[in-house]
Amino acid sequence: MADGSLIPRQVVFVPPHLVPHSELLASLGAQLDQDGWVTTAMAGATTVPGVWVAGNVANPRAQVITAAGEGSAAAIAINADLVDEDVRAAVDQVGEGLVTNPA
Ligand SMILES: Cc1cc2nc3c(=O)[nH]c(=O)nc-3n(C[C@H](O)[C@H](O)[C@H](O)COP(=O)(O)OP(=O)(O)OC[C@H]3O[C@@H](n4cnc5c(N)ncnc54)[C@H](O)[C@@H]3O)c2cc1C
Repeated sequence: MADGSLIPRQVVFVPPHLVPHSELLASLGAQLDQDGWVTTAMAGATTVPGVWVAGNVANPRAQVITAAGEGSAAAIAINADLVDEDVRAAVDQVGEGLVTNPA
């Protein structure tokens, strides 16, 4: 033990200590919880607009199938966000008279 004492045992179980690799996300300004895991909303959206996460970077309990599922959900959300952006830009162009409104 740390104090030098010995405790006789036949078997020892050592639990893993999970450490988030969230340096990149932290450098982008993503909010982390008290243990350093990035906090997420629906489909892995972080607090940084345009940045989603999936898998172990945010969810230490994720196995391969869970991480892949989260990646799929994030991809769908990212696609929807990009479509929203395109629609907003198109509507703005119509409003500014840059393109003709077919209606
Ligand atoms: C010992 C062990 C046994 C496991 N056994 C199983 C099992 O039997 N079945 C199962 O389903 N799951 C198992 N898992 C869990 C499984 O490995 C994870 O659930 C899965 O790998 C999560 O995928 P991920 O894409 O989230 O993360 P990862 O597979 O860790 O992928 C993240 C990738 O990002 C890269 N990366 C990190 N930071 C950066 C950066 N700044 N720039 C560029 N790249 C970066 C890393 O190098 C890595 O390649 C096991 C895990 C461990 C540790």
